[in-house]
Amino acid sequence: MSPRELSAELALEVGALLGEGPLWDERDGSLLFVDIEGELVHRFGPATGEHASFSTGAPVGSVGLRADGGLVLAVHDHFARSGAAGEDLEAVPGFSVEGAAVRFNDGEVDPWGRYVAGTMDWEQRRPLGALYRLSPDGSVTTLVEGVTISNGLAWSADRRLLYYVDTPTLGVDVFDVDPADGGISGRRRTIDVEESEHGRPDGIALDAEGCLWVACYGGGRVCRFTPAGALDTIVRLPASCVTSVAFGGPHLTDLYVTTARTDLDPAALAEEPHAGDLFVVEPGVSGFPPARFG
Ligand code: CA
Repeated sequence: MSPRELSAELALEVGALLGEGPLWDERDGSLLFVDIEGELVHRFGPATGEHASFSTGAPVGSVGLRADGGLVLAVHDHFARSGAAGEDLEAVPGFSVEGAAVRFNDGEVDPWGRYVAGTMDWEQRRPLGALYRLSPDGSVTTLVEGVTISNGLAWSADRRLLYYVDTPTLGVDVFDVDPADGGISGRRRTIDVEESEHGRPDGIALDAEGCLWVACYGGGRVCRFTPAGALDTIVRLPASCVTSVAFGGPHLTDLYVTTARTDLDPAALAEEPHAGDLFVVEPGVSGFPPARFG
């Protein structure tokens, strides 16, 4: 059976160099996302049309919500905290990665209230990256080593599985998770993404039916896979470099999609004037709100 096909619509013209890391903030009905290379965190309220951003002063890989109202961030070579609008941005002391070789990339708050974020090789080919976990007390644990481009993370609703993307492996792996403490083991491949057809797997999100939405960089699409690994739906976008996905909206029934323009030359940009913009689609299924740090 061929997959269902949907089209995403433009939600916000923002022209991000490398739009990434969307997440819905229920507290004010806004969507947060980053522009990694633009060194910006954006906040967009779909109901009001309000759009604000703040600069992080260095490449910002991802951002998470804190239980106390502010943000936790993974910026270049360190973790950081700020207020909700970026005020009082400060590094979390005591930990950094080798910023000349790698930078922080995708991250998510885990169901236990810790921030999990990975790094990627600046050259995108050496396994110099790792996946780290920042606890609210400031301590950092290394979860996975030997990663090339650490990307999408998603925990199952029962907290027993963690889906994880290292982009050049062209698929999604899954770990068994100890629901008591979040410890991970038993890494294995669960979804293969055919690069020549779909592009490279990037950010991911789980829906309420246990299916996984995978942003496909270079493929102009988001693919939905069933728990059995079958391709079920393709969401097409008018931008080839699709980076990440998150459910949002008042009922978490809108799928927001970020895109990038950084890898496009002037000719490609002329054909994709909306590269780097934010898109949305109603996929007919709901998702989950992000967990909060602390
Ligand atoms: Ca990414």
